[in-house]
Amino acid sequence: MAIQLVTTSAQLRTESARLLALKKGSSQGLVPTMGALHAGHAQLARTAVAQNDVVVVSIFVNPLQFGEAVDLDRYPRTLDADLALLEAEGVDLVFAPEVGEVYPDGEPMVRVTAGPLAGKWEGASRPGHFDGALTVVAKLLHYGMPGAGRGGVLPAYRAYFGQKDAQQLVLVRRMVADLNFPVEIVPVPIVRSADGLALSSRNRFLSEQERDAALVLSRALRLIEDQANAREPLDLESAQALVESQPLVQLDYFEVVDPLTLEPLAENCKYTPFRGQALALIAAKVGAVRLIDNVLLDS
Ligand code: AMP
Repeated sequence: MAIQLVTTSAQLRTESARLLALKKGSSQGLVPTMGALHAGHAQLARTAVAQNDVVVVSIFVNPLQFGEAVDLDRYPRTLDADLALLEAEGVDLVFAPEVGEVYPDGEPMVRVTAGPLAGKWEGASRPGHFDGALTVVAKLLHYGMPGAGRGGVLPAYRAYFGQKDAQQLVLVRRMVADLNFPVEIVPVPIVRSADGLALSSRNRFLSEQERDAALVLSRALRLIEDQANAREPLDLESAQALVESQPLVQLDYFEVVDPLTLEPLAENCKYTPFRGQALALIAAKVGAVRLIDNVLLDS
């Protein structure tokens, strides 16, 4: 079936209900994105298509989560290519609203407060970012929610988020648990290029030289991952030094943290062999481009 583009929440509701009825479907998946899609987003869409009868991908560049207007203006917009990629993955519906559809009265007076976890790491470098992100995710989860089908039965509802934005994923899960959103959050592993660089819409802004330099992020994470898999103590300082030795890279943070509380764990893992679960988080500027990456440690 050809992919369908809708731009209003009313159209989304009508069309997703029609498709669920047509397919006699019992599940709906939502993949929230900001567009400029790449193979990472394709993986989210593919996972959602495999698990649901009807799949909606939203494309919305959310002004609330951008600190600086220039970043928002510069954000790449590639709707035609995005539609082609999603059609190839078997997505049913693309919801690409204008800002005025999502925020008809201007910026919302009531917002989601992301709480103490939002002040750490990415949130420390980007004040207000997670309040803005969770506010739009809350709205998108409502837009994408399927209505009752025949006999009043509610379809299953799942939403897909990349492990790439690890802190965002933790916060979305907290919001859904703390505020009782009737949706299952499904995490999707990071998609990387063959040389290790995590795919990101921002990679297109890297020069060839900067792209080469950016490989130090995934290389440093691999060092930590290898130590964790070998159940060795984690030598975070050497891995940090490796990143800092790259002149085009300006390290913001590189920490090993608890995967739920995001509190640093590195001191505990420095002298004793690593056991358990943790997240190694890294953020750095490569030239003018801010990149984030992470690995889940599990041993
Ligand atoms: P964005 O369009 O950047 O807001 O991302 C939309 C979704 O795609 C988020 O859940 C991201 O975590 C996810 N995503 C972005 N890049 C990747 C990647 N390289 N691998 C897996 N998921 C990703």
